[in-house]
Amino acid sequence: MRSDIHPAYNISKISCACGNSWETRSTATELHLDVCSSCHPFFTGKQKLMDTAGRIDRFNKKYAGAAAKKAEAAAVETKPAEEKAAKAPKAKKEKAEKKSEA
Ligand SMILES: [Zn+2]
Repeated sequence: MRSDIHPAYNISKISCACGNSWETRSTATELHLDVCSSCHPFFTGKQKLMDTAGRIDRFNKKYAGAAAKKAEAAAVETKPAEEKAAKAPKAKKEKAEKKSEA
């Protein structure tokens, strides 16, 4: 190990947003976490929304209207598509006739 190139390896206090805190070794003396092993859904086995600053609400607001519009558009599009499929051969024939007349 070369001297004077390594950072200090302190005893650091880690604190989580859930209130859990513990000590470990790190180059930082203090760390503040949003989630830790005692509150993360993977370890607790309970479902929990990791909502910071209302991001889920913002997402729902942004895409609630878009999803409804998409569903409407899909419903409208399916009917004309079926009609088009039925009329398609006739339309081609009409065009072909027009071209031959001109
Ligand atoms: Zn935690």
